[in-house]
Amino acid sequence: MTLQSGPAFDGLYGQMIMDHYRTPRNRDPLPDPTLKAYELNPFCGDLIDLQLQLDERGAVHLVYANSEGCSIIQASSSMMSEAVKGKNAAEIADLSGRFRAFLRDRAGEGAGEDSTLGDLNALGVVRQYPVRIKCALLPWTALEEAIKPR
Ligand code: ZN
Repeated sequence: MTLQSGPAFDGLYGQMIMDHYRTPRNRDPLPDPTLKAYELNPFCGDLIDLQLQLDERGAVHLVYANSEGCSIIQASSSMMSEAVKGKNAAEIADLSGRFRAFLRDRAGEGAGEDSTLGDLNALGVVRQYPVRIKCALLPWTALEEAIKPR
């Protein structure tokens, strides 16, 4: 999917999405990752390769989030990689659940923010394009897979 076929990125939130898309954060592979996950959407080719390194308290210390595909997954992946830093598994599960609800429960709506989500509110633009919600959620699926107890 090209940028042109996707959502229009206007305003401050649009600028934040474009910034993360053009300059994705946390793209350096980790020397000694604690947790890993990989997710692929075979229908559109979006993919995410995720690595987390935890500190001795079990909180995320370093992140590697290498995504390929459309602008939405790349922005979501980059923003997720920043949002999880310093959080433990329980806090990550809570954040991911809130982000999922934020996109899904208001699918089709343009407006509405969740004050607990900070910069992630920028991705609320995707709610206007329900078929793109999958793109925004794929990095979070990888995240949930990575922290799943095993
Ligand atoms: Zn996509």
